[in-house]
Amino acid sequence: MSVTVRVPAKVNVQLGVGGLRADGFHDLANVFFAVALGDEVTAEAAEGVSLSCTGPDAASVPLDDSNLAARAARLLAAHHGIEPGVHLHIAKSIPVAGGMAGGSADGAAALVACDALWGLDTPLETLLELAAELGSDVPFALVGGVALGRGRGELLERLPVTGTFHWVFAVADGGLSTPAVFRECDRLREEAGTGSSEADVPTPDADPALLAALAAGDPVALAAALTNDLQAAALSLRPALADTLRAGIEAGAAGALVSGSGPTCAFLAKDADAAAEIAKSLEESGTCRAAQATYGPVPGAQVR
Ligand code: ATP
Repeated sequence: MSVTVRVPAKVNVQLGVGGLRADGFHDLANVFFAVALGDEVTAEAAEGVSLSCTGPDAASVPLDDSNLAARAARLLAAHHGIEPGVHLHIAKSIPVAGGMAGGSADGAAALVACDALWGLDTPLETLLELAAELGSDVPFALVGGVALGRGRGELLERLPVTGTFHWVFAVADGGLSTPAVFRECDRLREEAGTGSSEADVPTPDADPALLAALAAGDPVALAAALTNDLQAAALSLRPALADTLRAGIEAGAAGALVSGSGPTCAFLAKDADAAAEIAKSLEESGTCRAAQATYGPVPGAQVR
């Protein structure tokens, strides 16, 4: 018997980063948006926990116990006091270390897949708690849609949204480490003289114009409201991303930003035809490894 779960990647349409807290984390105002570009995780009954992975970035995915899918399987089994027995196969389309929460997505997918395989019927609230233990982006991959994440990103509030938005993602060669991008954000704030601590940086909050654009289903208004406080840091570590952003705008994107901690760049298009055109131009521009048109919002991790 096997269970296959489809899980979305995310783009942050707003990523507000507060000052560095004493515990080493930053307060975030994170508007997560789930897109159809996603991974598939298949769980099959087996002895112990084992993993396999296919896809263009498969070589960069750890197949040991550090993989979030394996950690999710073990955490769910421990919660129920059972021995974990599963082989997890990850069919990976989400770029690795790309700022699209691919590892978190696989963790969420493994929770749902193992829950079904082992016939546990774990309530969603419990799965959300286990997800938050695995990482601050994992709960969103369970719920999908569009949601505001506060704290480290793990306190979720679903947001109203109308219709479908069309996106293009430009994948870069090589990833960026999320902690390194946060460190660079702090360093740039110090260098600019504004300071980087909690006392120096106002607590971020969701932008009302952005929320209104989502609720109205207005891509042009959403494009104008896209913000990412980590973008300057990602560009500082990877200056060539500025060329990618420019190429997408020149190709007709209504808005562009670095996705999360990067280096994937996200472009908002007016409609599906425009998205296909932008993806084609980006591929021809030579400023990215690949470009893919997709859409959202879509639901979170679901049995296929
Ligand atoms: P985020 O946007 O949440 O910061 P990301 O999308 O930039 O994350 P991931 O693809 O989640 O980055 O991978 C970050 C690192 O996590 C990888 O370099 C890899 O070592 C590790 N990792 C653990 N589990 C997985 C997984 N299932 N898929 C990909 N990477 C994983």
